[in-house]
Amino acid sequence: MAPILCTPTSQLSSESNAAQTLHLLQRCSNMEELRQIHGQMLKTGLVLDAIPASKLLAFCASPNSGSLAYARTVFDRIFRPNTFMWNTMIRGYSNSKEPEEALLLYHHMLYHSVPHNAYTFPFLLKACSSMSASEETQQIHAHIIKMGFGSEIYTTNSLLNVYSKSGDIKSARLLFDQVDQRDTVSWNSMIDGYTKCGEIEMAYEIFNHMPERNIISWTSMISGCVGAGKPKEALNLFHRMQTAGIKLDNVALVSTLQACADLGVLDQGKWIHAYIKKHEIEIDPILGCVLIDMYAKCGDLEEAIEVFRKMEERGVSVWTAMISGYAIHGRGREALEWFMKMQTAGVEPNQMTFTGILTACSHAGLVHEAKLLFESMERIHGFKPSIEHYGCMVDLLGRAGLLKEAEELIENMPVKPNAAIWGALLNACHIHGNLELGKQIGKILVQVDPGHGGRYIHLASIHAAAGEWNQAARVRRQMKEQGVSKLPGSSVISVNGTAHEFLAGDESHLQIKEIDHMLEQIVERLREEGYKPKLGDLLLDLEDKDKETAIHHHSEKLAVTFGLISTKPGMTIRIVKNLRVCEDCHTVIKLISKVYAREILMRDRTRFHLFKDGNCTCGDYW
Ligand code: ZN
Ligand code: ZN
Repeated sequence: MAPILCTPTSQLSSESNAAQTLHLLQRCSNMEELRQIHGQMLKTGLVLDAIPASKLLAFCASPNSGSLAYARTVFDRIFRPNTFMWNTMIRGYSNSKEPEEALLLYHHMLYHSVPHNAYTFPFLLKACSSMSASEETQQIHAHIIKMGFGSEIYTTNSLLNVYSKSGDIKSARLLFDQVDQRDTVSWNSMIDGYTKCGEIEMAYEIFNHMPERNIISWTSMISGCVGAGKPKEALNLFHRMQTAGIKLDNVALVSTLQACADLGVLDQGKWIHAYIKKHEIEIDPILGCVLIDMYAKCGDLEEAIEVFRKMEERGVSVWTAMISGYAIHGRGREALEWFMKMQTAGVEPNQMTFTGILTACSHAGLVHEAKLLFESMERIHGFKPSIEHYGCMVDLLGRAGLLKEAEELIENMPVKPNAAIWGALLNACHIHGNLELGKQIGKILVQVDPGHGGRYIHLASIHAAAGEWNQAARVRRQMKEQGVSKLPGSSVISVNGTAHEFLAGDESHLQIKEIDHMLEQIVERLREEGYKPKLGDLLLDLEDKDKETAIHHHSEKLAVTFGLISTKPGMTIRIVKNLRVCEDCHTVIKLISKVYAREILMRDRTRFHLFKDGNCTCGDYW
């Protein structure tokens, strides 16, 4: 206890007493000390003095060191609290788990006709934001205008922030266009709002027009692009950001690493890792997870393990990132070992871990192990399997050819099956040639997911495989009538730090003539090895010759060919494909790996394929 607190009050003049108390309040660092000061203030009557009472309240209402409940007790006993005290309490609640109390206090404030000031509204709006209370936000906005605080930049920014965060981008834009005063915070709020709504073009418009950009402007744009599935644009922004001389922070690094992972560009991911090391940036669990994820998704599992080893804090998300890494590489047994190691280390798996481990079992055909794990979720770990887990199990049973069992699992699911579950079963029907069941499931899928082009294509190709060309054409017509288009196949290959993207039938690449010429040579060479194009699944109403041209211009073949002419002999070719690799491309790439003596690492929508000496690590099971 500080000695001054023991000094009897009578020995001090009231003025020096007030000064001493204020000094103590300023130095106060925890609630225990505060309680002593409060006790003293009660004795001396200083608690009735507005200035020390306000300071006392401010300390207990502060989110880090104080106690909001204590603050409330003090506040409720103050006779006619002033505006500062009301604001202090509103601020306290806006930062707490009870933001609704902030709004209730505001009501009381209005009822008691306490005057507002510029500090009242930002915290109220913050409370609205955490409660997603859009109606209340509009009401408070009206009060702000009525009471003449509409031109305060701080208040305007708070309003913009709430509207943007709650997804009410229209109101945000209306306000943004109306106000005279805007600063970088205002512009950033608009970028944030547009990216949250997925309106990247509008976000770009704001970004390009803003007079001054800070790190938040750049990172919002980068993470917005990543979230909108535009990793290439995210990387472009990242390069522009560096040219502009902006120092990178963790948020920017995390988003950019995610973009590298999505694109599978290992060189750039490594560059960022080197930057982290050089600048001695601490690898916290979030950064660690994205680094592991980036290395795993770029095909370098060894480096992912290195990152894991060097991390001090290994929570469940870090372990899960490793397990999911093994899953995507189809290394199911090792994923299981990591799953065991994790529990030996005293880390409990969560729902995400199970998604990872079940996916790993699925890609490796570990049916028995997966069943045990699935069953243990509720019995041992105490959580019910989610729809994702059922999806993993249907996928696993289906791939293993246990179609009946997969169907039964769907029938007995406690929740309504979604498109992903039916999609997994349809995929299995396709692999195992169960065309009858495939047609049934395909029809359900088109109904469940009518806006997804891939669903129609899948159903049409099942009809085509069954030789039902009319039916196949009918499904494609239906797709056209619905105005649905197919996501084009796209493959990305990174050469000397530049990502080259190829679409199916793409003619836009600068070296397309060279690529076409090489591709013809490859096909010629592979024919000598006994290759015959597999056109069965192709449902275009084309002559066989044209079908061949179409299938040879699949994006992954273009990318591999470009890889062969633009990298040194013996170098591994790395490709990322957005969809599942087709059977013909899989065969062709296997042969290329043998004939041209190249390792080709390809990540398709679900997993990695490492083509080597004419084989693939997936064992043709994908
Ligand atoms: Zn293909
Ligand atoms: Zn494969």
